[in-house]
Amino acid sequence: MKIVKTIDEVRKIVREWRKQGLSVGLVPTMGYLHEGHASLIEASARNNDRTVVSDFVNPMQFGPAEDLESYPRDLDLDAAVVSAHGGDIIFNPEPSEMYHEGFSSFVDMTVLTEELCGLSRPVHFRGVCTVVSKLFNIVKPDRAYFGKKDAQQLAVIRHMADDLNMDIEIIGCPIIREKDGLAKSSRNTYLSDTERKAALVLSESVFLGMDMVRKGEKDSSVIISAMTAHIQAEPLAKIDYVKIVDCKSMQQITRLDRPALCAMAVYIGKTRLIDNFFTEDV
Ligand code: AMP
Repeated sequence: MKIVKTIDEVRKIVREWRKQGLSVGLVPTMGYLHEGHASLIEASARNNDRTVVSDFVNPMQFGPAEDLESYPRDLDLDAAVVSAHGGDIIFNPEPSEMYHEGFSSFVDMTVLTEELCGLSRPVHFRGVCTVVSKLFNIVKPDRAYFGKKDAQQLAVIRHMADDLNMDIEIIGCPIIREKDGLAKSSRNTYLSDTERKAALVLSESVFLGMDMVRKGEKDSSVIISAMTAHIQAEPLAKIDYVKIVDCKSMQQITRLDRPALCAMAVYIGKTRLIDNFFTEDV
């Protein structure tokens, strides 16, 4: 397992692999890797001869009031996780390597990014689409792996790859949770002990919503009301959104008459956490 800092070096290594006829998987991450990331690396290692894990806290996807500076970083931890789970390279560029002076090209998207997290994080998906496009151009993988934890991101990337004819298979992987249900996230490290307990309202309300869908509830507002009430019972929780959307277009739907995504963002203290379920996984 090798840590690579430059675009030229990644390209050189991937070119050598290609000469040998090897397939390549890419797992884009912002580092501080946990079992959620590990599951993507394993999925890639299972289905590709080589796996590149990008480890880059992308400044472009953070808004001015967000946690770019405090976002946790630990390259030694990441190296251990990547080698333990079958990754071959960590691509860990400096921001100046990814965004040279005068950088002025962006990949942007309408519609899908105008709902859910896109509403409260207006620059986020432009940053995500731009950096993922760059990573696709640098690594040129056969397949790229994304977690369903960031469900809107997965839908946006699928849509971008389709719109822009990127010849890369986009694979969505299940949400990995702590034993008590909380979705694993690098941002969970921000939570105090009390907040960590309070954060369980996210997964609890996801399980509540899943149960209602399983029992045949089709009215979005009934499901959203029940989930919202559960979250609001926790004094440390403040809801950004709880919504049900079409799983491809990300537009809100009032009835579950097609594959849907039920997604939420909730502040626990100052920490913004997300969780969700796809009705097709219920
Ligand atoms: P991040 O480092 O948070 O940008 O995440 C990198 C990738 O890991 C994204 O595709 C995430 O959706 C995925 N990921 C993060 N947490 C989880 C989780 N708990 N389960 C599955 N995938 C995850």
